[in-house]
Amino acid sequence: MSVFRVHKCRVFRGLILSFVLASISLAQSPAAVCYTVALSAPEQHLVEVQIILPPGAAQRELQLPVWNALYQIRDFAQYVNWVRAKDRTGKPLPVREVDKSRWRIDNADGGAIVEYQIYVDSPGPFGAQVNPHHAFLNLAQILMYLVDARAAPQNVRFSHVPEGWHIATPLTSVSRDEFSAPTYDRLVDSPVEIGNFQESDFDEAGGHFRVIIDADPADYDMAKIVADLHKIVAAATSWMDDRPFDAYTFFYHFPRGPAGGGMEHAYSTAIELNANAMKQSPEILTGVTSHEFFHLWNVKRIRPQTLEPVDYTKENYTRALWFSEGVTSTAEGIIQLRAGLINEQQYLSGLGQQVAELEHRPAHLTQSAEESSLDAWLEGNGYYRRPERSISYYNKGELLGVMLDLAVRDASHGRASLREVLQWMNANYAKRGRFFNDSEGVREAAEAVSHADLNSFFAEYVAGTEEIPWDNFFRSVGLRVVAVPNRVPEAGFIASRNFDGPMTVGAVAAGSDAEHAGLQVGDTIVEIQGKPAGQESRQMLLSMNSGDMLSVKVRSRRGTERDLKWKIGSREEISYEIRDLDQVSGEQRARRTAWLKGEAQSAPAGAESK
Ligand SMILES: [Zn+2]
Repeated sequence: MSVFRVHKCRVFRGLILSFVLASISLAQSPAAVCYTVALSAPEQHLVEVQIILPPGAAQRELQLPVWNALYQIRDFAQYVNWVRAKDRTGKPLPVREVDKSRWRIDNADGGAIVEYQIYVDSPGPFGAQVNPHHAFLNLAQILMYLVDARAAPQNVRFSHVPEGWHIATPLTSVSRDEFSAPTYDRLVDSPVEIGNFQESDFDEAGGHFRVIIDADPADYDMAKIVADLHKIVAAATSWMDDRPFDAYTFFYHFPRGPAGGGMEHAYSTAIELNANAMKQSPEILTGVTSHEFFHLWNVKRIRPQTLEPVDYTKENYTRALWFSEGVTSTAEGIIQLRAGLINEQQYLSGLGQQVAELEHRPAHLTQSAEESSLDAWLEGNGYYRRPERSISYYNKGELLGVMLDLAVRDASHGRASLREVLQWMNANYAKRGRFFNDSEGVREAAEAVSHADLNSFFAEYVAGTEEIPWDNFFRSVGLRVVAVPNRVPEAGFIASRNFDGPMTVGAVAAGSDAEHAGLQVGDTIVEIQGKPAGQESRQMLLSMNSGDMLSVKVRSRRGTERDLKWKIGSREEISYEIRDLDQVSGEQRARRTAWLKGEAQSAPAGAESK
């Protein structure tokens, strides 16, 4: 990345003389937009933001994003209590609301100071939260941008930081409490943790890494996490043959209650996992971390054209999430295999579960991977998440990544693989500052490295809803998919939740014990087996056996709470196992070995050069 100039804001904060100096320096480079974020009332989750606008046009507009991080409209403006503005002499300036998320300031040609108060209490890696324990900030949720200066340098200073708290962020440090970014987009791609966290750091593959953990030290082992991070970083950077950063930060939160998952950034990731779930299944942490780390290439740098420039004022429609998210999950598997964190058997078993997840959703015959990407913006709605309405672009995208890998190997006689596809996209798009044309751009890369026509693959399985003929793809590595009828435990209902929202009941099986116990569509599940409902509830339900007693606390649409109990039943379900063919040839074995390493069998001419 290019080095940018660090602008010090304090120089012209409030001083008329300095304003003059700032105006003079305008000729060389755009003046910085300067923010101060005051954590003045953590117990009330209130933050006061001050923005110093440099001199410029008389009329300015300030916009608070309506979305960021998640592909969901979240209307952060709902939390803005008030907005006011003054000129540099302290004289009030008129502030006019233009729409729900935009404000206009007049007479600001000599610069202006805008102040507002915002309520900040959205937990999780996608949110911004300030409370007496800590602050974790997705800055897009709290910082308005100056519409004509999104590309200008930005500075942010944190004030009223409680005694003993520290600040951690991938932003460039100007002083202990002040940081800078070359643009607004970079500013808000940089999470900030302020509090009493634990910290470690390490070097790997020539890069420097910080690990920031805000959790009960009894719930994790820093040395073990750092050891796993070494392996993940080494596996991913060697797979991509690239390290497009000098420093990178891992932020972790391990709450005892509901947890939100992971969020990728160009120079960091923020990951939140339930402490108990992590103890029961330690591989959750390395899986999510591998996924989010790989995003530093796929989506942050290998980026679809449809997401650029980001439009913070409305939905940004893209057909590419099956690739940007789903194929990141494919890479997650390969990185874990290369890092020795999972073995072949665990990998194939996970892949079988992904096949099952897709096959069990009737919508796999009606909604394509591209349509699922476009419809990401509907995911906040319970009905949309039902199996007959939608598929997941993570799920089908991960499988498409595996099938594309196998198809490219087949077409190139083993000389190219998904690795070459991604490296080609990294070299031809990311490194050249270009964006790729959604699925067309992926096809271009896959065809370039395989020298084959892959039109039908993209038409049938990416843009279309043809059934994926699994065995045709797996044959080349000596495997097939076997459908196995099973009696599986059945709780009698389907429930789902939006990223940090409550878990709501979408369907109750007619005649089931759940129905007899009084469970109704639209009920919110508050607790399962005495534990708050959240990300880990699904795992808990999956681990129950038929005959076990299930106890849930639910809240009806009208707000009344009930404690319900019923016995877990059972039903027939097809599970999918990926097994050896009866005869596996030497050629198939060799292909499989290369596939599970994520490597081509021999380098195609030119593809290995950077
Ligand atoms: Zn992701």
